[in-house]
Amino acid sequence: MPAGIGRSGLILEEGLIFERGSPGRIGYSLPPMDVPEKEIDDLIPPSLQRAGIPGFPEVSEIEVVRHFVRLSQWNYSIAGGLYPLGSCTMKYNPRVNERVARLSGFSEVHPLQPEELSQGALFLMYELERYLAEISGLDRVTLQPAAGAQGELTGMMMIRAYHTARGNPRRVVLVPDSAHGTNPSSSALSGYLVQALPSTDRGLIDPARVEKFMNEEVAAIMITNPNTLGLFEEEIHRICGIVHSRGGLVYGDGANLNAILGIARPGDMGFDVLHMNLHKTFSTPHGGGGPGAGPVAVRAILAPFLPVPAVKREGKRFRLDYDLPESIGRVRAFHANFAVLVRAYAYICSLGAAGLKHISQMATLNANYLRTQLGSSFHIPFDRLCKHEFVATDKNQQGMGIKTLDIAKRLMDKGFHPPTIYFPLIVPGALMIEPTESESKETLDQFISAMKEIAEEAKSDPSQITSAPHLTKVSRLDEVRAAREPVLRWKQ
Ligand SMILES: *Cc1c(COP(=O)(O)O)cnc(C)c1O
Repeated sequence: MPAGIGRSGLILEEGLIFERGSPGRIGYSLPPMDVPEKEIDDLIPPSLQRAGIPGFPEVSEIEVVRHFVRLSQWNYSIAGGLYPLGSCTMKYNPRVNERVARLSGFSEVHPLQPEELSQGALFLMYELERYLAEISGLDRVTLQPAAGAQGELTGMMMIRAYHTARGNPRRVVLVPDSAHGTNPSSSALSGYLVQALPSTDRGLIDPARVEKFMNEEVAAIMITNPNTLGLFEEEIHRICGIVHSRGGLVYGDGANLNAILGIARPGDMGFDVLHMNLHKTFSTPHGGGGPGAGPVAVRAILAPFLPVPAVKREGKRFRLDYDLPESIGRVRAFHANFAVLVRAYAYICSLGAAGLKHISQMATLNANYLRTQLGSSFHIPFDRLCKHEFVATDKNQQGMGIKTLDIAKRLMDKGFHPPTIYFPLIVPGALMIEPTESESKETLDQFISAMKEIAEEAKSDPSQITSAPHLTKVSRLDEVRAAREPVLRWKQ
């Protein structure tokens, strides 16, 4: 196939970059040398030189630009349309955040630069810490962890350090069965046995069960509130009280913080530790593995164990404090994914307290609008007021041979990224839908129409759905094989 020839409207086909170009073509032109030329052999010993790179593309600048722009057009993104991926919070990332993160004073600062020359960056980190402490209702914050999962590990290591300092690290961590998989993983990596807590038939944690499981061997409970079903843990205060009364601590998975900003604070509910996913709640582009940031807020009793260095204020100056004898140490190189911190800071400053609260109200309103509109076509197992997301299932369509995966694939034909599917694990055939506050009513209505069309097709023409998607570049892949043996070449 001749690469790069348009064949389907203006979404152009694209071969491999290795198939482009022509020998000798290059993508740059440099002015003539104004210093003496040196032989390459004088600079790099011939034994270390490569004769050439077999098949190396020799392409012009515009060929490179077009290649990557075309590939990017095959991708789906939040800038392209609704991305209702539950729990992931694929919300709009305001462009002003990008503008600020690219200011040269931020983008060119080096982590080893002397503190006197990094005062602006340190000030930003200090202020962001204070903002996140205020939002979470806790006392201190580390910005170091690179993502939520690493924040969990950091938090659990601090919990272990806390118990160890009091004479016994304890053995067990309680994790509800609706939890994200990273919760049991971080507990296990921190040396704890995981005890699963079954949810009630209302999708919540049962305080009586916590009471039953809670003893002096339990180091902590990990709770996501609102939980992964989008439901607020109504008994959170009591549950925290039970855990605290036996000397345990309460870890908060803050991935769903975008539902309660400025409305309720985890610290006030009784949480002792909370990680926040800046790339979810505080608007950093994410997906495909990063970048992210997972700051962890803690109550004062855990502050001695925070990672080093901490940003400290001394009068008008800021410095990095490495003098924390009980610290768990560093959890990553340097200070954080700094550009993500800058975006979060810009986001918080540009919205202010009232703006943050409005976000959570709108996210909740949007989710409840979708829930009530879709309830006539899809089974909604916990059909009551939810927070920023809710879970539907394929139960009404199963009789027609349609599964959750089919519904997700068919949605692509209708121009929407599918929601999260088959999570949380406690709901068979889950479709976990999070519209976020970014979306207009018109967009939500289009999504509702698409979902309802699928529910109708399930009755009238189910094979349309089970063979979907029909309008994507590739249809159903063997997903495991596609990951292990990727075929990158575009074929008709
Ligand atoms: C996303 C998520 C995590 C993990 O966070 P990462 O930033 O992806 O590492 C943990 N718990 C819940 C509920 C999540 O949605």
